Amino acid sequence: MENYQNFINGKWQDCKSGKTFENRNPADWDEVVGIFPKSDKEDVEMAVKSAREGFNDWRLTPAPKRGDILKKVGDIMVDRKEEIARLMTREMGKIIHETRGDVQEGIDTAYYAASEGRRLLGHNAPSELENKMNLSFRMPIGVAGIITPWNFPMAIPTWKIFPALVCGNTIVFKPASDTPATATELVKILLEAGLPPNVINIVHGGGGKVGTAIVNNTDVDVISFTGSSEVGQTIAEAGGRQLKRVSLELGGKNAQIVMDDANLELAIEGVLWGAFGTTGQRCTATSRLILHEDIHDKFMEMLVAHTKNLKIGNGLNEDVNVGPCVNEGQREIVEKYVKIGKKEGGTLVCGGEQMNDGECSKGFFYKPTIFTGITPDMTIAQEEIFGPVLSVLKIKSLEEAIEVLNGTIYGLSSSIYTQDVNSAFKAIRDIEAGITYINGPTIGAEAHMPFGGVKATGNGHREGGWEVYEFFSETKAVYVDFSGKLQRAQIDNY
Ligand code: NAP
Repeated sequence: MENYQNFINGKWQDCKSGKTFENRNPADWDEVVGIFPKSDKEDVEMAVKSAREGFNDWRLTPAPKRGDILKKVGDIMVDRKEEIARLMTREMGKIIHETRGDVQEGIDTAYYAASEGRRLLGHNAPSELENKMNLSFRMPIGVAGIITPWNFPMAIPTWKIFPALVCGNTIVFKPASDTPATATELVKILLEAGLPPNVINIVHGGGGKVGTAIVNNTDVDVISFTGSSEVGQTIAEAGGRQLKRVSLELGGKNAQIVMDDANLELAIEGVLWGAFGTTGQRCTATSRLILHEDIHDKFMEMLVAHTKNLKIGNGLNEDVNVGPCVNEGQREIVEKYVKIGKKEGGTLVCGGEQMNDGECSKGFFYKPTIFTGITPDMTIAQEEIFGPVLSVLKIKSLEEAIEVLNGTIYGLSSSIYTQDVNSAFKAIRDIEAGITYINGPTIGAEAHMPFGGVKATGNGHREGGWEVYEFFSETKAVYVDFSGKLQRAQIDNY
C-alpha cells in the first residue's frame, strides 16, 4: 500500500488539510490499494495558479516539440503497460485483458497526439481584396480543467490531456475517486517524458469539492468532463454562467439490433462482449438487445447458454471474463434495476443475483443478467444501469428496430447485425447516435476516430480523432495586407 500525493506547482505534496481517503480493490475489499489526499478548494486554487504560470512558456513551445514529449510518453507507457494494467485491475476491477487494452488506448492516443503536433492545421482562404492574404491559426486556450470517471482510468484522461497539451494548454486534472492510482501513474509518466512541471497538476479528492472548485474557478478557461448526465448538467450550468468552453461526454443506453438475416454466432460474440465486458460499466455498453422476432427464441437459447459459461472472478486471473462492480454503491444500483425489471413484468432468464462464492466473497460481484419480454417504455429499457444487465426487446421489422433503438434520451453507440447491405445503410442513415457499428458490438472505439454522442449523451463535442483538437484550441483569423494602401472590406466595392 502506497501513500499518494497531489502534484501542484512542480511538487508532490499532501493537501492543505492533511485529510486522506482510501482506494480499495473491488474484487477484494480488504486490500487497500493506496491512501490519497482528500483535497479542497484551496488546493485547487494553488493548482490553477500553477497551471496559469505554466501557460506562459508552454503556449510558446512549438507544437512539434510538445508532440515530441507525447511521443516519449507513449514509449514509456509501452514499457510500463503490464505494471499499470495490473494496478488498474486492482483499483477498479476490470479484467486484465481489458486493462491492458485501456493502457494501449493511451499509447495509441499518445502517438496520435505526437503526430498532431506537426499538423494542428489552420485554413487559408482567398481575400476579396487585391494584395491581401487570409489565414487562420489554432491558438492555445489557457488552463484546462480535466474531470474523468473511473471506468477507463487511463484511456479517458489521455483522450483529454494529450490533445489539450499538444494544443498548448496547461492542465488541472481531477480523476475519479475510485481510480486515483492509475491517474497518478499517468502524471508521473508525463513528467518523466519531460513535461515542464507546472504544465500538469493533479488534485485528488471528491467531485463535490475538487470538481466543483475546478468548474467554478474563473481562471480555468476550458472544462472537459466525462461522467454522469446529472453531474454533466450541473457543470454545463456553471460553465454557461461563466461563458466557459465545456465538453461533456455523458451517459448512454446503447442497443444492438440483430436482424433475421444476421450471422447469429457473430452477433452472440458481439453482445457477450458488448453487454458484459467491463461488467457492463462502459458508457458504450450494450444495455439493450433488439431481436427480430424470427430469430428471437433461437438466439436467446444460444445467448443464455453462453452467458452462463462466463467466468466471474478477480480480473487478475487470465481466464476470468467478468470482474466485479466498481464499488458497493454501483452493485446496489444494479440490484435496484433488477428489482424494477422484475416488478415491471420482465422475464429474468439468467443472473439476477450477487455472486459471493469462493474468491468472489470479498468483492462486489454480480452475475451477468438478462431480461426478455421488455417493452420500450419499461424503466430498464430507458435508464442507464451501468452494470451487467441486458434488456431484450422483440421487433418485427428494420423500421421498428430503429424506432426502438432511437427511443431513449441518449444517443452514444449503436450496432446492427445484418447481411443485407440496404438494411445496413438505412441504419447508418437513420440511427440517432454518435457511433454506429455494422456487424460489430457497441464497444470498440479507436483513438484516431471521433468519439461522442448525440441527444442527452453530450453537448455536441467529440473526443478522439481530429475533432478534439478543435475543441482544445481557439481559432485566430489573420489578414495580411501587402498592398501598401488602406483597403476596405465590408464597404461596397462593387
Ligand atoms: P460521475 O459520478 O459523474 O463522476 C465523474 C467525475 O466527476 C468523477 O471524477 C467525479 O468525482 C466527478 N464529480 C462528481 N460530482 C461532481 C461535481 N458536482 N462537480 C464536478 N465533478 C464532479 O460519473 P461516474 O460514476 O464516475 O461514471 C459513470 C458515468 O460516466 C456513466 O453515466 C457513464 O455513461 C459516463 N461515461 C461516459 C462516457 C462518454 O464518453 N460518454 C465515458 C465513460 C463514462 P468522484 O469520483 O470523486 O465522485
